[in-house]
Amino acid sequence: MAKFPYAPAPESRDVARLKPSYQPYINGEFRDGTGEAVKTINPADETPLAEVSEAGEKDVDDAVAAARKAADGSWGRLSGTERGKYLFRIARAIAERARELAVVETLDNGKPIKESRDVDIPLASAHFFYYAGWADKLGYAGFGPSPRPLGIAGQIIPWNFPLLMAAWKIAPALATGNTVVLKPAETTPLSALVLAEIIAEADLPPGVVNILPGGPSIGAAIVDRAADGAIDKIAFTGSTEVGKIIQRSLAGTPARLSLELGGKAANIVFDDAPLDQAVEGIVNGIYFNQGQVCCAGSRLLVQESVADELIVSLKRRLSTLRVGDPMDKNTDVGAINSAAQLAKINELSDSGEAEGATRWSAECTLPERGYFFPPTLFTDVSQSHRIAREEIFGPVLSVLTFRTPDEAIDKANNTPYGLSAGVWTEKGSRILSMANQLRAGVVWANTFNRFDPTSPFGGYKESGFGREGGRHGLEAYLAH
Ligand code: NDP
Repeated sequence: MAKFPYAPAPESRDVARLKPSYQPYINGEFRDGTGEAVKTINPADETPLAEVSEAGEKDVDDAVAAARKAADGSWGRLSGTERGKYLFRIARAIAERARELAVVETLDNGKPIKESRDVDIPLASAHFFYYAGWADKLGYAGFGPSPRPLGIAGQIIPWNFPLLMAAWKIAPALATGNTVVLKPAETTPLSALVLAEIIAEADLPPGVVNILPGGPSIGAAIVDRAADGAIDKIAFTGSTEVGKIIQRSLAGTPARLSLELGGKAANIVFDDAPLDQAVEGIVNGIYFNQGQVCCAGSRLLVQESVADELIVSLKRRLSTLRVGDPMDKNTDVGAINSAAQLAKINELSDSGEAEGATRWSAECTLPERGYFFPPTLFTDVSQSHRIAREEIFGPVLSVLTFRTPDEAIDKANNTPYGLSAGVWTEKGSRILSMANQLRAGVVWANTFNRFDPTSPFGGYKESGFGREGGRHGLEAYLAH
């Protein structure tokens, strides 16, 4: 039967109210950075969106000085109740400007508008609401009767969830009385700079939050200040490779560190699982945000007896995903964030074929311009293949099979990473037994990629250490 075509349903670009240029936010002011001016582009059509004045070394020093003054002065002395009011204000303003922020995020990142609208922005607001609630209750959080802030938190975030990662970092830092110097990723600075506007409008005292757009050298400069003792803590989310560099730089110094790094999660489907539901969970696990998710379910482990049936259903479902313009409200899979990331996805996918795995991609017409990659899966994958070991960070699923629960555990844990995992089965006892044996910070049962501010998130092994979210997320910012 012929499919009904979807009529275009574009979100309005005007809602973003993009300005021609953006500046760093330092000591309560927007001002030109001492770095270069770079254009941030829309990955869906490769056109420039705005010019961003990047921070330089001097701006890092100014931001650190402003953050120290605020930490030692008005912000450091403010009661938790008063700090909480600022956080509630920021949370409300994000919610009020949600549509604008969603469009900004989609234009700068390439993710489908329905994801920025329904996931990224509401969760960012929810994080501020959640930590606003903790600000006056820190003495009851289980970290001693009067836990103290660390001082200044240097925060470096990636491009896959730009506003959400800023919220994950800034909200707990402020709730606990710290001040912040944050660097967004170079390819996605805009939503963090709109957040800076919100922070300014919320009347946060100068220096409490400083936002420095810039490249890797600015991230490295923030880490250097921590190594020199000018910054008290580094919170980093990004690649394991850069996480290792940061850990080396801070080894032997008093600076505190939390790292949220890569992953290669196993999504394990048993033969008693509701397969249609599992198919939806697999799709959400690896094709959500074009697979550019640290906790993506990038390795499907399926019990051999149902593997053929599941793969047929999965391919059928993938053929219905709409790939293309991220601003269209019907789009399921948008653009890859950058040419460099697309090249990495292509390189790893090619290696999969070269090493003997079988590649299948959904038939779809990709836009002529922009960075797009079709939803893809590999079968005949063995554990030694690069596509089973390395983080692809794209819409590419590697399928492996198993016969017994023990084999599933062995294969799932056979990775240097340990961020997340999923289990699909009807048996509650099996879920608990698997969750106990899986070496992963988060284990989802009969669902995947569910996030909530009340729930701690973080990894084992090369996925990093420290937890973000929930009561646990406070600990990373408290001296006790
Ligand atoms: P990076 O780890 O390089 O980037 C993360 C953040 O760190 C960015 O703000 C980046 O700045 C900054 N940074 C880069 N180098 C340094 C440094 N030496 N010192 C301090 N900060 C630094 O990730 P990429 O964007 O390069 O992505 C590469 C791969 O990493 C992806 O393919 C993916 O596999 C993985 N990744 C994992 C993420 C996760 O959440 N686990 C998130 C992003 C990527 P800038 O943006 O200017 O380069």
